[in-house]
Amino acid sequence: MATAKLHFVLVPLMAQGHVLPMVDLARLVAGHGARVTVVLTPVNAARNRTLLENVARAGLAVDVAELPFPGAALGLPKGFESLDMVTDISLAIRFYQAIDLLAEPLEAYLRSLPRRPDCLVADNCGSWTAGITRRLGVPRLVFHATSAFNLLAMHNLAKARHVCDRAADDFEPFEVPDFPVRLVVNRATSVGLRLMENQKGETVEAEATADGIFVNSCTDLEGAFLERYAEALGRKVWEIGPLCLLNTAAAGTVAGRENRTVMDVKHIVSWLDARPAASVLYINFGSIARLFPPQVEELAAGLEASRRPFIWVVKETAGFDAEFEARVRDRGLVIRGWAPQMTILSHPSVGGFLTHCGWNSTVEAVSHGLPLLTWPHFADQFLNEALVVDVLGVGVRVGVKVPATHIGLVKPGELLEVQVGRDLVERAVAEVMDEGPAGAARRARANELADKVRAVMVEGGSPDTNVKDMIRHIVELPRKEGMAFGAAEVVMSKSKEKKMDDTDGKLPVASE
Ligand code: UDP
Repeated sequence: MATAKLHFVLVPLMAQGHVLPMVDLARLVAGHGARVTVVLTPVNAARNRTLLENVARAGLAVDVAELPFPGAALGLPKGFESLDMVTDISLAIRFYQAIDLLAEPLEAYLRSLPRRPDCLVADNCGSWTAGITRRLGVPRLVFHATSAFNLLAMHNLAKARHVCDRAADDFEPFEVPDFPVRLVVNRATSVGLRLMENQKGETVEAEATADGIFVNSCTDLEGAFLERYAEALGRKVWEIGPLCLLNTAAAGTVAGRENRTVMDVKHIVSWLDARPAASVLYINFGSIARLFPPQVEELAAGLEASRRPFIWVVKETAGFDAEFEARVRDRGLVIRGWAPQMTILSHPSVGGFLTHCGWNSTVEAVSHGLPLLTWPHFADQFLNEALVVDVLGVGVRVGVKVPATHIGLVKPGELLEVQVGRDLVERAVAEVMDEGPAGAARRARANELADKVRAVMVEGGSPDTNVKDMIRHIVELPRKEGMAFGAAEVVMSKSKEKKMDDTDGKLPVASE
């Protein structure tokens, strides 16, 4: 009987906030002796090439299967392959429709493999993979790049639909039912736009039929919510976070996340080296969220008035007055484009993070013991804000009330372009960077939490034991009937599959 390494195929959503943790997951799983293929499209593969090459160079059996992005069929421009390129709702809808069209090339790719993969791990937004794995008899796991806090709240609201439905509009507050803590939200800050509802139904169904669930989180961060979420689903839920800690010096850094950085990383580090410990506020709203020009102006004015050192990562081009950078030159560094976030967060001169509360950024801040100044924009970000401010006590709200998806819906015909004025920015920055007793207590809580979450990323820690348990679970699943493999024609942009040594697995082996 031929034996081979278990083969996992990972299918992220084509968005940096989903691809990066999926690559970390690939490293974690490959570190346990499996072979892992990450499915990407050309632009997403190119963006993460250095990172993936370095992972392979580190001796891990991780490779890439590159599928063409089917955007042209929906009139999307060439190269439009990532969620961060979306600038309006119509583009978002077409982007997700194009993602669904990946089903055909993905199935053809899987059928072309010499043997059936042992498991497909799909992003939570990858419900379109469920039909493929069912047809091919491949076990399927779901990977959540969000908090268990958000997952449980969404689960409970979907179960008690009347709670959402009886709200008069998207802004009327209500309490999330059956939740471990009192959590007041409205439709805008929780379930979001109604127009995405069909997609949500399929996502819930795909989760309910999965063979298990991964959450990029850990007990010390949100144990009560992880536990209740697993109970509610009644299936295997493995906490495997914080995955970002695979990118720290202590874990033996695999460089490459920085390869899209627009500014020399050494320059950024030496700029930080020249600043006192915990004095710098780092500002970055992730890969997708953008501010209106008048809001950029207010944030700039508030930062200037705060008189604190800062690094501000901007995607916006409008809203800066021409002299801003010159005026703050002695204490402000503006990075236009992609920044080496993990490098910046791990620098001792950074003392606070003004963030949109994307789950990766949240976990990265917590892992580095940084207090957060929270400025959520949409999706899970308002709930992540509630977790860090109200439950963990390591955050300060800047005061955003309305998600970016709803800023044209507050008053008909009017855009709410500024939510946080300069005075509010100045006050909030002072609060989060405060060196008095309240600030010191928040910082102490943040450091204590960081110590706890960092302690799990070791041999025998929860990600390690949970990946072992997941592998055992996959191996023990009854083998499903499926079609023969190796017969189909490959539909790939170009095969990026590298031949891997398939015979030296340390772990339970698959046999065909
Ligand atoms: N990121 C980065 N540099 C940037 C912007 C983002 O390295 O300039 C990384 C960040 O460290 C995180 C991910 O991209 O790992 C963004 O994910 P998150 O969930 O925070 O936000 P999203 O981009 O999905 O809104």
